Amino acid sequence: MSETNLKSLNELSSLCKRRGFLFQSSEIYGGVGGCWDYGPLGIELKKNVQNSWWKSMTYRQDVVGIDASILMNPTVWKASGHVDGFTDPMIDCKECKARFRADQIDANKPCQNCGAEGQFTEPREFNLMFKTQMGPVEDSSSTIYLRPETAQGIFVNFQNVQSTMRQKLPFGIAQIGKAFRNEITPGNFIFRLREFEQMEMQFFVKPGTQKEAYDKWKEIRYNWHINNGMRAENLRWHPHGENDLAHYADMAEDIEYNFPHGWGEMEGIHSRTDFDLSKHQEFSGKSQLYVDQADGNKKYVPYVVETSVGSDRCMLALMCDAYRKENEGDKENERVVMKFHPRIAPIKVAVLPLMKKGGLQEEAQKVLENIQLNYRCDFDVAGSIGKRYRRQDEIGTPLCVTVDYDTLEDQTVTVRDRDSMKQERVAIDQLDRYIRDHLGF
Ligand code: ATP
Repeated sequence: MSETNLKSLNELSSLCKRRGFLFQSSEIYGGVGGCWDYGPLGIELKKNVQNSWWKSMTYRQDVVGIDASILMNPTVWKASGHVDGFTDPMIDCKECKARFRADQIDANKPCQNCGAEGQFTEPREFNLMFKTQMGPVEDSSSTIYLRPETAQGIFVNFQNVQSTMRQKLPFGIAQIGKAFRNEITPGNFIFRLREFEQMEMQFFVKPGTQKEAYDKWKEIRYNWHINNGMRAENLRWHPHGENDLAHYADMAEDIEYNFPHGWGEMEGIHSRTDFDLSKHQEFSGKSQLYVDQADGNKKYVPYVVETSVGSDRCMLALMCDAYRKENEGDKENERVVMKFHPRIAPIKVAVLPLMKKGGLQEEAQKVLENIQLNYRCDFDVAGSIGKRYRRQDEIGTPLCVTVDYDTLEDQTVTVRDRDSMKQERVAIDQLDRYIRDHLGF
């Protein structure tokens, strides 16, 4: 059997459209740049990714979760440095007016859009935050921002969470939520979006112990990707050197994924020092000191180690990684199969009556009802059984359960494994257990 990996994001985006994973936002109006809608399978997949993250990050004693609001007091973004410094350098083609990130193209080459030469403007700094107004009066005092990262919602709640949950350092606060950036050049499918979701955790530590926490979280986060089925050869670390280290960080590394368009950041692990809490202390006038009872009631502003991963970008990597084309060119045996880890797969089990007739559909319905409260199931009666298996392969369903005439006689069903395509006969009263063992989570 021959097997090839995903060759281009176009191949994946057409599968995602065809199979109900992702649609362009407001597609009937021509779409809107950098925004996508999750279809029925896409949202299952995204929720599985987010649940896996939430479980791994908060089902432990030293991390708790919050859900902060998207709109925040605008001073938050002055304190964090986003109002003055959250910018990318932008240049325009004078000929066609297309806009590019100056650090992503070579301005000495012709414009990628219209081919004109030597026509670019000087780079200008462009703030990536979306602005809107709060309240009915449109003046500058009512300007507020859509948050460009979820992290600040955590920092401004540090004291609330620490005191109400009686947390002792080191401890972390985790959050999943939407973030918005007016990216100059969104694209590469869902790699660079203007509206996206982040899964972030800030781990508060005693100054001087950040290296230990940083190493620990690097290991946890890398293993999380591996445990979700990501192939190690498609992951690598990118340490930030002096040139690309953010001004507030003393150590930073990204986990990069080998996307079809090249290696790209999927997650950042940053040691952010006491920069954010100190800034909020300064701008709000509210103390962000921690009283360390384990160290003679010493008071200090905690240091922070952050882990930050985009749900959408992580999902893109998982889809790229899972995609396989088998036996290309061999009409009989060619198939596209998404080899998702069962935990991540949007549908866990498909129940398929061999025929609509002869009482098989009714029997299959009973089988479905017995398992569908435990696993996200699909029920498909349309087309030949071979075609239905291929459809399930393409959306990555680990198990197909087929109900046939023998089922009516002996109360057994055929269970087909997505990856090996092996089939086994299983008694209906053992099915729930079989599925649980086989999915392995
Ligand atoms: P990039 O260099 O790609 O612009 P960044 O360094 O600005 O990313 P961070 O601010 O560290 O990214 O954000 C943390 C994570 O959030 C990223 O690793 C990525 O997974 C996700 N993310 C950031 N920007 C976007 C975006 N525009 N679209 C989708 N996901 C994003």
